[in-house]
Amino acid sequence: MEKLSYASESSTSPWVTYLRQIDRVAPHLGDLAHWIETLRHPKRALIVDIPLQMDDGTIRHFEGYRVQHNLSRGPGKGGVRYHPDVDLNEVMALSAWMTIKCAALNLPYGGAKGGIRVDPFSLSEGELERLTRRYTSEIGLIIGPQKDIPAPDVGTNGKVMAWMMDTYSMNHGTTITGVVTGKPIHLGGSLGREKATGRGVFITGCEVAKRSGIEIEGAKIALQGFGNVGSEAARLFEKAGARIVAVQDHSATLYNEAGIDLTELTVWQAESKQIAGFPGAQEIAKEEFWTLQMDILIPAALEGQITRERAENLSCKLVLEGANGPTYPEADDVLAERGILVVPDVICNAGGVTVSYFEWVQDMASFFWSEEEINQRMDKIITDAIAHVCDKAEEKNCSLRTSAYIVACERILLARKDRGIYPG
Ligand code: GLU
Repeated sequence: MEKLSYASESSTSPWVTYLRQIDRVAPHLGDLAHWIETLRHPKRALIVDIPLQMDDGTIRHFEGYRVQHNLSRGPGKGGVRYHPDVDLNEVMALSAWMTIKCAALNLPYGGAKGGIRVDPFSLSEGELERLTRRYTSEIGLIIGPQKDIPAPDVGTNGKVMAWMMDTYSMNHGTTITGVVTGKPIHLGGSLGREKATGRGVFITGCEVAKRSGIEIEGAKIALQGFGNVGSEAARLFEKAGARIVAVQDHSATLYNEAGIDLTELTVWQAESKQIAGFPGAQEIAKEEFWTLQMDILIPAALEGQITRERAENLSCKLVLEGANGPTYPEADDVLAERGILVVPDVICNAGGVTVSYFEWVQDMASFFWSEEEINQRMDKIITDAIAHVCDKAEEKNCSLRTSAYIVACERILLARKDRGIYPG
């Protein structure tokens, strides 16, 4: 196996986590395993320099990335992350997880991801817009509605997608809405897109809970991350009778045995830009979050959160991965030994990219669907996918993650095999 010079070998790096997940699926792939090396190499990675004139007249340079991990099944698809910890290794892993996710859901896409190493909250709105437009122009070489379609991720939103769509369109002399998804509704966005990821976490969580006899009503839930994904998933679980007993974000860890009122927390967060200081709960130490009594844990922030040590102390029955890559492979083993079920990211948070797919189809057809139609179609795709993954896990006697990887890798490698290697 050829080693990649630019991938960190640190055992905690996201790319290494991904490679270990691939190692685990290989023995289940039969003859297709012959092609698996392709998944250990991103197809294309672009690093761009983004010079930015700040409001005070100084010039700063930011590093941006777009990685297309695999395009065997269609154009690249995946979000754009603005975060100070973004680096090539992380974007490579995130792009690979998109390859697996799109294939697990049978969406006609490969996997891609982008990002800028920046704290978006430290920029003014004007600076953020100029940064986004220059980044879009730089990666304009490799994106496009038939090539690679970005979307929101951590630190980006509909407004950023509108600037990306406009910049790409300006550079091409015509409005091309299908170049990004997650846009505002009035600019070719799709109804239901914003809530789709959280909704998918809820649907997959309920399905796995039902199959394994875990009651949602009265369940105690601990949530990490109160952003777009976590807050929507939590709201749906609250509506279904669960209690959100803990919420953690970068600013604080909140705990309330009787349940945190999410409506009040949302108002508090909107006003103070963080959950810290919320009067409806008690603040506890950060590490205590992982030892709380809970039935369901929803990590919905960043990767690399559930370590072996944390997995050893967790007291839940079910982990729903709203985030991408929150669990280390060695923690996966501990959770499996302890009988804690994990609904893996590549299925659990796939509601977002599923409705992104609908958005892209609607943009292509210039014909838009109702929210009811979108939710119905999404519910069916997600429910069928999780059912298929659960059945496969029973058949192969493996974790839901490995079974999702089996389903996905069979599709990707069959496409790879039948397309063949050019030149032959
Ligand atoms: N960033 C989201 C994810 O990780 C959505 C990607 C998309 O809609 O293309 O799945």
